[in-house]
Amino acid sequence: MIFLDAAATTPVRREALDAMWPFLTGEFGNPSSHHSLGDAATRALDEARKAVATVLGCRPGEVTFTSGGTEADNLAVKGIALARQAADPALNRVVISAVEHPAVEESARYLERFHGFSVDVVPVDRYGMVSPEALAAVLRPETALISVMYANNEVGTVQPVAALAALARERGIPFHTDAVQAAGWLPVDVKTLGVDALTISGHKLGAPKGCGVLFVRGRTRTEPLVHGGGQERGRRSGTENVAGAVGLATALTLAHAEQGALAERVALLRDAFIAAVLDGVPGAVLTGHPVERLPSVASFCFPGTSGESVLLELERQGVLCSSGSACAAGSDAPSPVLLALGVGAEVAQTAVRFSFASSVTQADLEAAAVAVRTAVGSVRTLGRVPQ
Ligand code: PLP
Repeated sequence: MIFLDAAATTPVRREALDAMWPFLTGEFGNPSSHHSLGDAATRALDEARKAVATVLGCRPGEVTFTSGGTEADNLAVKGIALARQAADPALNRVVISAVEHPAVEESARYLERFHGFSVDVVPVDRYGMVSPEALAAVLRPETALISVMYANNEVGTVQPVAALAALARERGIPFHTDAVQAAGWLPVDVKTLGVDALTISGHKLGAPKGCGVLFVRGRTRTEPLVHGGGQERGRRSGTENVAGAVGLATALTLAHAEQGALAERVALLRDAFIAAVLDGVPGAVLTGHPVERLPSVASFCFPGTSGESVLLELERQGVLCSSGSACAAGSDAPSPVLLALGVGAEVAQTAVRFSFASSVTQADLEAAAVAVRTAVGSVRTLGRVPQ
């Protein structure tokens, strides 16, 4: 099998697993315990936090470990907006882009349903890009928070986060970015980006599922969502996932060290793959930005097919990929992201995303491009559901 679905998840790196192992076995202590096992767990958690802070260029106290990207997005959007509203009830609007992951979009909708917020959605251009002008146009004196993702999970478009965050800073509005897809592929230094909050998920970069990080800049107040024993400086209660934090810190540190060379290598493979698919499949359309895109994502629409059928056919030929975001898989509804880019509903249903792991090779992608040509051809000939 050629695995081209790394934006959905990645295997745990051996180094991360080795680093985690002691904290799942002999060193199994609870960081809240006041004895040697508890102390060892506290030290491991502290070290993991420092390592994450080193990669992000922030202070360890600005790093909160969560149960994943979804929880970190929820904490950023709800936590920051609610804290700001509590300080000033006039702050009752949140701004999100039209291509956010549901973890951000649904958090904003929750604020609308239960906390009197209005949600302002910044439109994107046909490549899925938010411009500073478009963002400026929706900002109001009542805007409590802006959340615009770093890189899109379906089409790979990379946003001009530093420019957007600079605009937010001029207006004194906290800026959150979901960097779940970007981490490992793009620099994530929070000072260079100028963001106030940033989300990372472990399982997209070689750590286990169920662990994530939210960076929140020191002065940005955040209302906790999970209440209890006051762990994570009161930002996120619950006994810490020590092994998960250690695994995430290990995988993130390695990904950070490898990032520049990896991005360069894989971007070349991506461009060759995109060219091969566009050449080989009549009518194929690249979705997302032609240049400002993740090195690891190539996404297309294949008019005259159904994305799900192409997916099945590709799997029969040994290629695993996705028809859109993993969250929407199996659903017949066209992707809201593609609709936001102005892709028609019918064409949007023909979307297929190929996303590459760091181990991807030229041979993998050459074989995959041939498989795509065959799969699309056979779906177009045979109709919707090849058996
Ligand atoms: N944000 C983006 C952009 C994602 O792609 C994902 C996962 O697909 C998430 C958030 C959610 O992360 P997690 O799976 O760790 O909850």
